[in-house]
Amino acid sequence: MKKVLLLGASGSIGTQTLDILAAHKDRFELVGFSVGKRIEKIPEIIKTFKTAKYVCVQQEADWIDLRKKYPYLKLFCGDAGLAELISTCNCDMVVNALVGFAGLVPSVTSLRLNKTLCLANKESLVVGGALVRDLLARGSGKLIPIDSEHVAIDKLLTCVPEKKVKKLLITASGGSFRDLPREKLVHVTPEKALAHPTWSMGAKITIDSATMMNKGFEVIEAKWLFDFPLAKTEILMHKESNVHSAVLLDDGTYVADVSKPDMHGPIEYALMERQIDFTLKYVDSLDQFKGMHFGEFDPKRYPAVGIALKAFRKGGNACAVLNAANEEAVYAFLNRKIGFLEIESIVSKALKNVQFIASPSLDDLIRTDAWTRNYVHTYVESRGGRKK
Ligand code: NAD
Ligand code: MG
Repeated sequence: MKKVLLLGASGSIGTQTLDILAAHKDRFELVGFSVGKRIEKIPEIIKTFKTAKYVCVQQEADWIDLRKKYPYLKLFCGDAGLAELISTCNCDMVVNALVGFAGLVPSVTSLRLNKTLCLANKESLVVGGALVRDLLARGSGKLIPIDSEHVAIDKLLTCVPEKKVKKLLITASGGSFRDLPREKLVHVTPEKALAHPTWSMGAKITIDSATMMNKGFEVIEAKWLFDFPLAKTEILMHKESNVHSAVLLDDGTYVADVSKPDMHGPIEYALMERQIDFTLKYVDSLDQFKGMHFGEFDPKRYPAVGIALKAFRKGGNACAVLNAANEEAVYAFLNRKIGFLEIESIVSKALKNVQFIASPSLDDLIRTDAWTRNYVHTYVESRGGRKK
C-alpha cells in the first residue's frame, strides 16, 4: 500500500487524481491533501478517503475555523504549512498538482525527504530545474512526470533505444485562439481565452495554452526531465490532442503515444510508477482517431515560446523571472487589467529589467519571484488599468 499526499486536491489535476486513488483503494492510501482556498472540498474528500488526516489550507482564517470544526485532523496553513505537511504526514509519494511558483518549494522539499514526486506542477521544473536535477543526481527522491506530453515521451523512451531517437516531437493543440490571426488577438476576452478546444484544465494553464507559453514551459520541462538536446526537440501542431507526443527515429519511423485527451491516463501512469496496468479505459476504438491533423509550429504566431526558450538559454534566475512575470500577467489579463497580447510584452520587459543572478540558490529563486511580481504589479498599476 503506497501512502499518498496530494497537493492541490481541489484543482483540475487534483480532482482527477482523487478519481484514480478512489479506483485503486487496494493500492493507495491517501494520507493527506491540500486544497488552497477551496475549503468546501474538504468534507467530500475526507468522507471518501477516511485515511486522510493531514490537511493544508492556504488562508489563516480558514485554518482557524477548520481547527474547531475538525479537531481530529492535523491542519496546516500557507506555504510553510505545505512544507510541514510533507515532512509530517509520513507519505511515500507526493502528487504535486499545485499551480504556479507555489509548487516549487513543495517539490524540492519532497525530493529532499526522499519521496517519489509525481509532478504535474511544471513550474517547479521551469523555475527550479537545476535544483531538482541536482537532488535527483544525488539520489534524493524520484521524479515521475504527469504532464501528458512528458508521460508520452517517458513511455516512448522505454520502448525505443534513445540513441536511435533523432527528434522529440512535443505536440500542441494551439489553444483557444488557434484559428485567429495574431492581429485579431488585441481585444480577445478572458472568457474566450478560457474556452480550450480540446482540454478541460485550470484557468492559468488554459491561458498559457492560448499564448503557447505552456509549450515553451513544456520544452524546458522536457529538457530537465530527459536531457535531450534542445536543437532536436520540436513542437508539432496537432489540433485533436490525441497524439500526446512522438519520437522520430533515425530510420524515419515515428513512434507516438495516442489516446483521448484525458489526464486520468498520465496521472495513473505516474501513480503506478510507470507500470501500465490501467483500470480505466482510455481508448474505445481506433475510429475515434480518424482524421488527425498535424502542422508546423509558427514561432512568429506564438512568440511566447521563443521568449521562454531565450530565458532558458540565459540560465541563472531568468526562468524564475519568466515564470513569475507570466503568472502575474496571466492573472492581470484574467482580471481585465491588461490585454491578451500584453502578457508576452510584460514578460519580455520583466526579463530585461529584473536583476540577473547567475547561480541562484532556492532562496534567490524565491527572492526573484517576489521582485518580479512586484515589478509587474507596479508596471500594470502605473498604467491605471488601461488596456493597450
Ligand atoms: P488548478 O488551478 O485547477 O488547480 C490548482 C491547485 O493549486 C488548486 O487546488 C489550488 O487551490 C491550489 N493552489 C493554487 N495556488 C496555491 C497556493 N498559492 N498555495 C496553495 N495551493 C494553491 O490547476 P490545474 O489545471 O490542476 O494545474 C495544476 C498544475 O498541473 C499546473 O502546474 C499545470 O500547468 C499542470 N498541468 C495541468 C494539466 C491539466 O489538465 N489541468 C495538464 C498538464 C499539466
Ligand atoms: Mg501538457
